[in-house]
Amino acid sequence: MANNIQAIRGMHDVLPEQTPLWQYAEQIIRDILGAYGYREIRLPIVEKTELFKRSIGEVTDIVEKEMYTFEDRNGDSLTLRPEGTAGCLRACLEHGLLHNQSHRLWYYGPMYRHERPQKGRYRQFIQLGVETYGLPGPDIDVELVLIMDRLWKKLGLRSKVQLQLNSLGTIAERSIYREKLVSYFQQHKEHLDEDSLRRLDTNPLRILDSKHPAIAQLIADAPALMDDLGEDSLNHFKGFTSALDQLGIHYEINSRLVRGLDYYSKTVFEWVTDELGSQGTVCAGGRYDTLIEQLGGKANHAVGFAMGIERLLALLENQGSIPLANAVDVFMIRVGEKAEQEGLRFAELVRDTVPDLKLLVHCGGGSFKNQFKKADKTGADFAIILGDDEVSRGEVGVKSLRNDQQQQTLTQQQALAFLQTHYAPSREMD
Ligand code: ATP
Ligand code: MG
Repeated sequence: MANNIQAIRGMHDVLPEQTPLWQYAEQIIRDILGAYGYREIRLPIVEKTELFKRSIGEVTDIVEKEMYTFEDRNGDSLTLRPEGTAGCLRACLEHGLLHNQSHRLWYYGPMYRHERPQKGRYRQFIQLGVETYGLPGPDIDVELVLIMDRLWKKLGLRSKVQLQLNSLGTIAERSIYREKLVSYFQQHKEHLDEDSLRRLDTNPLRILDSKHPAIAQLIADAPALMDDLGEDSLNHFKGFTSALDQLGIHYEINSRLVRGLDYYSKTVFEWVTDELGSQGTVCAGGRYDTLIEQLGGKANHAVGFAMGIERLLALLENQGSIPLANAVDVFMIRVGEKAEQEGLRFAELVRDTVPDLKLLVHCGGGSFKNQFKKADKTGADFAIILGDDEVSRGEVGVKSLRNDQQQQTLTQQQALAFLQTHYAPSREMD
């Protein structure tokens, strides 16, 4: 017999038991973004390879070794998006959204990177991306932090994550710093590992991001970019941090925070946790004004962040006890031919009358006992019971599945009124 086909390594199914947790987080995310006036944009999962090479940068981990790139049947080189920033900006430029306007946007969906799968690191993973355009900041940089801060609080995770900040200055400031850094590492070349040696020529700032324990001290003693910032970059950073101070949002300045991608300038930040081992960055972002010109647009402003939803959910799972709604509120049991027919009709009436109620009608027959067992398994609050006797009298049985109270017999109208009072539209998960 042939082996069963399995999913691709690093790409996971979300099974029905897990979806309520996803939906819980997704609803909170949507509500919070809505409360700040952000609008959703939906983007293709596949883009031209060139888009990512030009935006993310040729000598980044993503472009060098993580992209899912393939030739389509026309011979064009296409790539499954490894992140959303490039595609979002491509779409806004293509549709002329950036002419004298500002935008606050978000998107949500799968990203693809060919990495070594491990906890918190997958080959298909879900990101929430938030991008703003046309706003020079630092007030908008602050707004993004406020959104994330509110999200952590609403999810009960605020004490699990810490905010780290840095400024990457402008391209010109970075190139002065880059020379200093190269000459510093050149002097200590014999201590560098193979990856860092390669980066010394291609992308020396990335050495600061190295997790190699042997060079941790070397990195700690390296010159800091902050010392080479010009007045404009410094003022931007001061404006950003002093607003956070006034709002009482705690942060740490981490001069080694350089982010993996080439397109950042000025503000960069990460929200990190020590609960997820080495996959400790849950959310990351920053300002990328220059990317707009790099992709053919007019000089403009952009700042955004991306959040890894699997890492967010891992934190929620560690936390335990989240009030998730049941998939089924009421389970309908039908025994007998007439009851089966009448049950379908009555179930529609229930759904017309109490649209918020989640009613599952048992299909496939079976005894009362057997159907009650199935009802219990769904976690429903109540069973509605129809046998041919009830049908002939226009009645239904109602039995709580949460306590031992006796089954009641009600007219159909009484049963509808009962369900209405139990499942009023204002019912909330609390
Ligand atoms: P890391 O340093 O962990 O590789 P990154 O700098 O490559 O992260 P970004 O490109 O900034 O990550 O993506 C933003 C967020 O998306 C990360 O902070 C993380 O939460 C999530 N993320 C990135 N790569 C993966 C992955 N392979 N699997 C799951 N989540 C990921
Ligand atoms: Mg990475």
